[in-house]
Amino acid sequence: MTDSSRQSPTVGPVRTCVGCRERGPRSGLVRLVADRTVAAHAVVVDVTASAPGRGAWVHAHPDCLDRAVSRRAIGRALRIEAPAEVSRVQEWFARNVRTTPSIIEQESGSEADGHPMSTQR
Ligand SMILES: [Zn+2]
Repeated sequence: MTDSSRQSPTVGPVRTCVGCRERGPRSGLVRLVADRTVAAHAVVVDVTASAPGRGAWVHAHPDCLDRAVSRRAIGRALRIEAPAEVSRVQEWFARNVRTTPSIIEQESGSEADGHPMSTQR
């Protein structure tokens, strides 16, 4: 692999999505890591992108996650031998990634003191 040494200085770090294989700014991708404290082959979202070890990057888009899962690209990128357990990642995507905005259920409003959900990055 040759590194393109001519990257625009205005563009931040770039990562390759394991789903669609396209590159994008780091901020648009989610880092996945193996977390053996959860389960033997569990993959979790590394929200802060600071967990040690190998990471696999995927666009914050359900299609890319689906593709990465069906191609087993996540397990390969993380060097997980058995089929990766990605249910936690899928949960995270379901909760944090907007697929079709019209379908999102709004639960706020009815409860007086719901726990505040911070959505800031
Ligand atoms: Zn992608």
